[in-house]
Amino acid sequence: MIIVLKKSASEEQIRHIEEKIREWGLQPSISHGAEKTVIGVIGDEAVIRTKPLEVFPGVESVMTVLKPYKLASREFHHDNTSVTIAPVTAGCAPTVIGGRQIVVMAGPCSVESRESLFEISRCAQAGGAKIIRAGAFKPRTSPYAFQGLGRKGLEYLSEMRRELGIPIVTEVMDTRDVEMVAEFADVLQIGARNMQNFNLLKAVGKVKVPVLIKRGLSSTIQELLMSAEYVLSQGNPDVILCERGIRTFEPMTRNTLDLSAVPVIKRESHLPVIVDPSHATGHWDLIPSMSKAAVAAGADGLMLEIHPRPEEALSDGPQALLPDRYMNLMKELGTLASALGRSI
Ligand code: PEP
Ligand code: MN
Repeated sequence: MIIVLKKSASEEQIRHIEEKIREWGLQPSISHGAEKTVIGVIGDEAVIRTKPLEVFPGVESVMTVLKPYKLASREFHHDNTSVTIAPVTAGCAPTVIGGRQIVVMAGPCSVESRESLFEISRCAQAGGAKIIRAGAFKPRTSPYAFQGLGRKGLEYLSEMRRELGIPIVTEVMDTRDVEMVAEFADVLQIGARNMQNFNLLKAVGKVKVPVLIKRGLSSTIQELLMSAEYVLSQGNPDVILCERGIRTFEPMTRNTLDLSAVPVIKRESHLPVIVDPSHATGHWDLIPSMSKAAVAAGADGLMLEIHPRPEEALSDGPQALLPDRYMNLMKELGTLASALGRSI
């Protein structure tokens, strides 16, 4: 249920409504929009329906949100939400995902060594990436494949961030690691395979670090939005969604990039959406076209895997862009972005 407040509603009236909602064992969630201020009422629908929400002073109307996602829905928050990532170096501008700028996150699939992380991150930054992506904990299909450097990988990431002054996004796979990874990461990534790990979603909902949720391999858009709802409902408002391809009958690409997910999510939700063409296609030669298509579709950012020696990569070599191809792509994206009234 959503309570739409009158423009004239006073602070005291709003506080009173919030107190009452809590007294009833429900959870209020306020959203100040440019047009309207609304209070979302979260909890047992059967209980909410019995409450006389429209009688409070300051209330204009009460709306039922029929969709299962509430805090993630456009009804709850009319304006686009942007997620701000604090600057690493004092005095630098923060990175904002969901604003005019299309934020590119680039880097290796995995942190492989200190040297290669620094080399690839420098290249990503020189090309215009605003965030470095790299996994220290890797969700691999085979237990015999490289599993990531774990904590050591996080330490390399943190060292690189200090030296280059660029934030990092890295995956957390296990509830037991959330606190530790949150100490290193500027954005916590929930991988496709963990999109419906509800305990993990609840755990990252309790920390104060933005969360990037990748769409599950066989998940619907509604399921992705419900995963966002888990994080939002725990009090973490900084959620970014990522379309990274879904499994279909088509074997020519690793997954099928569902670009229509971008405008559908934008219609249904206020949360920023990015696209990962690397995992979606699995082939480096498809990354430029799909990156440009994603930007044209309205994506707020891209996640790209790059590697100077893909044949030596410890994971996902076939989809890694070589540095010079990445540089070219970034130039093209800059032109495209400005034609669309955005920037890179
Ligand atoms: C990744 O980005 O490192 C990754 C493993 O992606 P996904 O979870 O989308 O497969
Ligand atoms: Mn990868």
